[in-house]
Amino acid sequence: MSQEERPKSIDLPRFENEPHTDFSRGEARDDMKQALQNVRDQFGIDVPLVINGKAVDTRAHLTSRNPSRKLETLGTVASANADQAAQAIDAAHRAFAQWRKVSVSHRAEYIELIAAEMRNRRFELAAWMVFECGKPWKEADADVAEAIDFCVYYAMCMRELQKTLEMNYPGEQNSYFYRPRGVTAVIAPWNFPLAILTGMTVAALATGNTVVMKPAEQASIIASKLMDIGRDAGLPHGVLNFLPGTGEDVGQALVRHRDVKIIAFTGSQKVGLMINRQAAQTEENQLAVKKVIAEMGGKNAIIVDEDADLDDAVSGVLKSAFGYAGQKCSACSRVIVMNPIYDTFVERFAAACESLRIGPAEDPGIDFGPVIDEEAFKRINDYLAVGNEECEPLVAGDAGSLAKEGYFIGPHVFTNVEQDSRIAQDEIFGPVLAVMKARDLDDAFLLANRTRYALTGGFYSRSPKNLHRAREEFFVGNLYLNRNITGALVQRQPFGGYRMSGIGTKAGGPDYLLQYLLPVTVTENTMRRGFAPNSDEED
Ligand code: NAD
Repeated sequence: MSQEERPKSIDLPRFENEPHTDFSRGEARDDMKQALQNVRDQFGIDVPLVINGKAVDTRAHLTSRNPSRKLETLGTVASANADQAAQAIDAAHRAFAQWRKVSVSHRAEYIELIAAEMRNRRFELAAWMVFECGKPWKEADADVAEAIDFCVYYAMCMRELQKTLEMNYPGEQNSYFYRPRGVTAVIAPWNFPLAILTGMTVAALATGNTVVMKPAEQASIIASKLMDIGRDAGLPHGVLNFLPGTGEDVGQALVRHRDVKIIAFTGSQKVGLMINRQAAQTEENQLAVKKVIAEMGGKNAIIVDEDADLDDAVSGVLKSAFGYAGQKCSACSRVIVMNPIYDTFVERFAAACESLRIGPAEDPGIDFGPVIDEEAFKRINDYLAVGNEECEPLVAGDAGSLAKEGYFIGPHVFTNVEQDSRIAQDEIFGPVLAVMKARDLDDAFLLANRTRYALTGGFYSRSPKNLHRAREEFFVGNLYLNRNITGALVQRQPFGGYRMSGIGTKAGGPDYLLQYLLPVTVTENTMRRGFAPNSDEED
């Protein structure tokens, strides 16, 4: 195929994103209730590691708890050590020799089987997320849908990428194609416990790499479901290995191992930057420099212009700031309001916060549930103390008696936030919003861009000129105009940031898989005529 004929990655055929469940339908609600009951009946399970297709128990274990009811234990999960990490890498390394030779269409079929099984088990997977990560029904359901989308989309992308690019001249044949890199350590966060883990894992598998999967401690049971589904899809032993454990132990062992070729990480800036530094160090006998794909945090702002539709802006900021208790990397944690409408916006926003219902994640009527664990609960409360000292509290939602049961923190909003204060600069990762006043649009963009992050941003305005300015002057990876800033969809809104928010390219986008591949050029001099007889013919 000539260069002109090769479809540009951006021209990939459209695919239909997996529809979200409509919980206004009684049948869907019944299915979800039944799934929650079935999952509850399984509480107490023990989850092993999986190395080379074999279940492995460990001396140390993690305990999985329900953040909505902190005394409730879901089960225990084996916690790997450095030796087991080495065994898993060895298994993945050996499996790579065969897996890399499996045809792209065959690999894509495995991944489509994973998607199909996720569809079959959709409510069950969402129910585990409700219990293990405190995700409300709708968000847990969207998480499963996104995981399915990653499978279908990356399988489709890889089918396109396998097409060899030919650049031929008289007497010279040039081909350009991709090879897999090798063992991939997937290190995932807890906040999109199935979607992000699945996205990084199937990207590696589709491109012909083998995987050691290290989920977040707080989401290890859900992660084990992906391992089960991969096994049921028939993935050969060693192609996908499951290695739960602590970041400090097993995460570090994976990052430092010389046979790991790709580290696909999503998580905090602190850990991401550390991994990036460590991966750059090479050993004398190491064969390749590690490729690091790191998606990190954000301190995302929404600007509300003076002519914005305030109904839209208030509800969009509310949803962006407090969906999943502010625990999305895309969440809005700063709202920058133009001076002429500042007072009106603040008054209406404070009133809107009153309407938020907080409660256990299994309750279908809630807007948001608990934060993930005790550490997060303490960290966010420490920030609230800082905010109360440095800024002016506008909304201080009280979780009431819920706070005794689980890790609940009500919505908090601060005004009079100084641009360089910790409330304005640090990623708090909880239901905490800073409101800032801008003199004019120049000032608004200055404030919005004044962070080390560049992940998501939003702009509410009715002025075409100002909307155009936002496109040019608001420096974020994903910019949303006149809508909320969370809920990116695979292919429609490829997702990821830059500056200190990420060093990879966008997940769910046309370039994502390239990071998992090595481009190779082969040039042959075709002037030479006549071939040596091959050995079969000789026999
Ligand atoms: P985290 O950085 O604490 O942990 C992420 C993963 O890294 C976990 O599996 C953890 O066990 C592992 N880890 C921790 N310490 C390690 C170490 N020393 N060596 C190797 N691995 C280690 O993040 P988290 O709390 O799980 O997730 C929340 C963070 O993730 C937020 O900052 C959020 O913004 C970010 N995030 C970013 C995106 C994105 O696409 N940009 C998406 C989701 C979450």
